[in-house]
Amino acid sequence: MMAENKLMQVKELLLRQRLEIFQRKQRLENNWDELSEREIEMEETAQKGALAEIYEQLDEQEQQEIETIDLALDKIDSDSYGICEECLKPITPERLALLPATPYCIACSLSQDKSPKVPPASI
Ligand SMILES: [Zn+2]
Repeated sequence: MMAENKLMQVKELLLRQRLEIFQRKQRLENNWDELSEREIEMEETAQKGALAEIYEQLDEQEQQEIETIDLALDKIDSDSYGICEECLKPITPERLALLPATPYCIACSLSQDKSPKVPPASI
C-alpha cells in the first residue's frame, strides 16, 4: 500500500495529465478560453462534467488516454492503485513513476497487446 501523501501526489499528477489532454484539444477549439477559465474555478467533479462535451470531440487515442487515467484515479479512490490488473501483483514504483496511469505491470504489458500506449520495454 502506498503512503497517503504519495497517493495524493499521484492523483494530482494524473489530474494534470488528464487536463493536458484536453488542453491539447484546446488549441483546436475557438471557444476553449471561456471554458478553461470557468473550469479552473470548479471542483473536480464539476470539472469532469464540463469537460465531457469536449471529450466527445477527442479522437480515439485521446479518449483512451483519458479512460486510462480515469481508471487509475478510481483505483486511487478505492485503494487498489499500483496493483497489476492482470496478475494482481504490485507494479514497480519505477514503472509507476514513468507511467502513473498504467494498469499493468511490465511483464503483463509485454505479454499482452491490450495495454494502452506503453513505451519501449525498458520500463
Ligand atoms: Zn501483471
